Amino acid sequence: MTDDAELTASFTELYGGAPEGIWAAPGRVNLIGEYTDFNDGFVMPLALPHTARAAVARRTDGELRLHSTDVPGGVVRLRVDELTPNEGHGWAAYPAGVVWALREAGHPVTGADIQLTSTVPTGAGLSSSAALEVVTGLALNDLFGLGLAPADLAVIAQRAENAFVGVPCGVMDQMASACCTEGHALHLDTRDLGRRQVPFDLSAHGLRLLVVDTRVKHALGDGAYAERRAGCEEGARLLGIRTLRELPYEELGAALDRLAEAGADESVVRYVRHVVGDNQRVERVIALLDAGEVRAAGPVLTAGHRSLRDDLRVSCAELDLVVDTANAAGALGARMTGGGFGGSAIVLVEEERADAVTKSVLEAFTSAGYGTPGVFPAVPSAGARRLV
Ligand code: ADP
Ligand code: MG
Repeated sequence: MTDDAELTASFTELYGGAPEGIWAAPGRVNLIGEYTDFNDGFVMPLALPHTARAAVARRTDGELRLHSTDVPGGVVRLRVDELTPNEGHGWAAYPAGVVWALREAGHPVTGADIQLTSTVPTGAGLSSSAALEVVTGLALNDLFGLGLAPADLAVIAQRAENAFVGVPCGVMDQMASACCTEGHALHLDTRDLGRRQVPFDLSAHGLRLLVVDTRVKHALGDGAYAERRAGCEEGARLLGIRTLRELPYEELGAALDRLAEAGADESVVRYVRHVVGDNQRVERVIALLDAGEVRAAGPVLTAGHRSLRDDLRVSCAELDLVVDTANAAGALGARMTGGGFGGSAIVLVEEERADAVTKSVLEAFTSAGYGTPGVFPAVPSAGARRLV
């Protein structure tokens, strides 16, 4: 944990001059709408209080210097005009990719000294990578006067991760980090990036949303993502539509019959059912939040988990244990969040039951012989911003 003064001091020690400012960008959890963002569908993330922060100063000599307080090793020095996709660089590829993507888009970024630090747990499905990208993008946007809106920065950050780092992610994580606001979840339509801030004031309703970081990551994940993505594309192709977003929930049953008749693999049938069902669940949760019936969203979350477990098959024993234990201990609902195969789950619970539910989950993990998960409340927080 480094405060802003410490970040300034470490920047100054590292680079021999003061930073021009400090920026922050949060990690996120997705409330509902999973594996929908590469199908032009709906997602509904909220920003966490956990942030990546960057102390930054411009350079005009073409040098890009990167350091993170969270990674052992010295300063990574690169030339902005020699940045090339997929050349490694480890963690530094995320911020370097943003510089590359900005320059590719014609923005005059002539170099920078950057000191990063983050409280977003990495690899927990909470988007530490997007936080790093968005904070870098926002700082450079401000310092070089690029005039990009938060959503533009999110698209630049996604391009950095897709094309420079080489991770085929959708746009949800970056949009959440860039565009979320305090006390709200973000309804994002990934087809046209249309969005609405949906009031989600948990404490006003006497509720809590717990994040349970299982601290496991099963190796299966990467290949499985590509396989699900290909399966969804195959489903859309067989149905003669561009993406699964074009299939209304009301036509799902008939479409699944058509897929079976067309000889689709049974996995494709399951993937289509999940994606179209989860888009519908996003709409249901929004309607409930708008009506002030936040508690009623709990069972929708649990239904989403079942779909991810049984139809998409991206859950794992640890995530299932969180969901089953939390629900048995009186939670309103729970589901895995993010890509699955480990990472985090979320639990919607009455404030006064939060401690008991947490205790049950911790005990269940001990009994199962798993490591201790991290548990903390997800308070819907602000998106990326300048701090100093
Ligand atoms: P997630 O985004 O779910 O946390 P990813 O695998 O997408 O997981 O991104 C994690 C990677 O992001 C880390 O392996 C590291 O390369 C980079 N990263 C995240 N936070 C930091 C940090 N504070 N300092 C340096 N690199 C970081
Ligand atoms: Mg990530």
